[in-house]
Amino acid sequence: MTTGLVWDELYMWHDTGTSAWVLPPGLTVQPLAHIESAEGKRRIKNLLEVSGLLEHLAVLKPRPATEEEVLRVHTKDYVDRIRRDSDALGGDAGELTPFGHGSYEIALLAAGGCITAVDAVLDEKVDNVYALVRPPGHHAERDLGRGFCIFANVSIAMQHARVARGLERVAVVDWDVHHGNGTEHAFYSDPSVLTISIHQDNNFPPASGAITDTGEAAGKGYNINIPLPAGSGVGAYVATFEQVVVPALRNFEPQLICIASGLDASAMDPLASMMMTSDGYRQLTRIMLDVAADVCRGRLIACHEGGYSPAYVPYCGLAIMEEMAGVRTGVDDPLLPLLSMMGGQPVQPHQQAVIDKAAKLAEGVKAKATR
Ligand SMILES: [Zn+2]
Repeated sequence: MTTGLVWDELYMWHDTGTSAWVLPPGLTVQPLAHIESAEGKRRIKNLLEVSGLLEHLAVLKPRPATEEEVLRVHTKDYVDRIRRDSDALGGDAGELTPFGHGSYEIALLAAGGCITAVDAVLDEKVDNVYALVRPPGHHAERDLGRGFCIFANVSIAMQHARVARGLERVAVVDWDVHHGNGTEHAFYSDPSVLTISIHQDNNFPPASGAITDTGEAAGKGYNINIPLPAGSGVGAYVATFEQVVVPALRNFEPQLICIASGLDASAMDPLASMMMTSDGYRQLTRIMLDVAADVCRGRLIACHEGGYSPAYVPYCGLAIMEEMAGVRTGVDDPLLPLLSMMGGQPVQPHQQAVIDKAAKLAEGVKAKATR
């Protein structure tokens, strides 16, 4: 098993400036670093190195996405505006998405890193890939940056798989704790891209990600939202994957599966209220590897999204990549015993009720819609 790691130091140089986490800088609160900083992601890379896992990974150098590739998802006006602001002193891509000088080039490299991941798997250079890219992408819409996301990395990569590589069906499984609204918007009427988002009910964006939003026109039934109640733990996540995600993927028969891999459903995250653990992510990864082996010859990529506990995300990232690579480094998550014993880790009845509703949506997915 060879696992690729897409990484570039420039990802860490995307400058979100000061604010007070997500509050705007101003005279009401003392400025502090922005919460979407390089720290969490760099610390994942550092733990890969110190644990020794990095020696087992094939490091893949990303290329920038071309303007043509970005324009498959975004408007020209939007792309031009980001470039102009980035060439000057920086700006805000829309909503809660500050960026500094040079972030345009870095955002192109993030989208291109996800394209690099797609190509590496389709060309069988590696078995699977984790793209540790930054800035994240799943909130970015056609003409609007949102939630720290400038370009829609995963959507751009899936369009590459469809348009440039000729795949008929691809699937995105978004386990970031926030709704993958950008990916939903990009493919809402497209039955060739199955989009599944597992998120905390009505967290961010507000009023986004309802279970009743299932797609439109030809894409009806090919967008599945699973808005889990706040407080959901490992039991709820594993049940969601076993009872909704896996059946939907088996029905859809994608030729490539992409995980939008936010690590902000962890019990330690300040931007959400879920209770996932590093071992929970390991279990979800195992489930995804198994279903990918069955339906698409193991073609699985993970593209990094959010994750705002710099202390804890390294353990989650390490667990995911250990599982993908089939290697255990022996580095243990020191918080795992404590987090695993927290009340509410098993699936609760009100969580199961949501999962049962979503399971009905998974039953309606058919591969033949695109044949
Ligand atoms: Zn998130």
